[in-house]
Amino acid sequence: MGKGINKSLQLSFEDLAGPQTLEELKNSIADCRKCTLAGNRTNVVFGEGNPFALLMFIGEGPGADEDRLGRPFVGAAGQLLDRILAACGITREEVYIANIVKCRPPGNRTPLREEAEACLPHLRRQIELIKPRIIVLLGSTALQYLVGSEARITKTRGQWLGHLFGARVMPTYHPAALLRDPGKKRSVWEDFQRIRDAYFSLKNA
Ligand code: SF4
Repeated sequence: MGKGINKSLQLSFEDLAGPQTLEELKNSIADCRKCTLAGNRTNVVFGEGNPFALLMFIGEGPGADEDRLGRPFVGAAGQLLDRILAACGITREEVYIANIVKCRPPGNRTPLREEAEACLPHLRRQIELIKPRIIVLLGSTALQYLVGSEARITKTRGQWLGHLFGARVMPTYHPAALLRDPGKKRSVWEDFQRIRDAYFSLKNA
């Protein structure tokens, strides 16, 4: 997938001098003002989970609950994600969850390209430090900013698209889309069965 990866995610030698732990990275962006989303946020929502996770989820951006609490995926969509993970026999504590942008877009709108481009280096470093083996892109925003603007979630969901920093990448619908349209439930369950199988074969290897 190298060709399709967003340039902001490519490694540079500057990274060698960057934050060396997730905690250092988190502290380094606690007062980030690289884009206009800084103006309306309550908290930078860094992401959370197992710092050595084999499986990482990347969503779009924080909503109202996430902004208030400073934690990702804690609202209704997050609770649904927790239930899907539980049905797969996976706990939230063993995975890592982050978003394309770390500050809440006003009214939960989709992050603009300049906002995503400003924030992607933070995510890139986060991925480098966690070194997941599987990355699940939740929804079209994560898909389009990390794989390519031409990528369509309806066409690519449930497929292994290649590798990003050594991790296999699969997109699926965002849990918020599932809440809006329960008709997507079967597709998401099929996708998560593939994710679960790949994850457990790594975990049990
Ligand atoms: S969204 Fe990202 S780049 Fe923009 S201010 Fe927040 S942390 Fe910084």
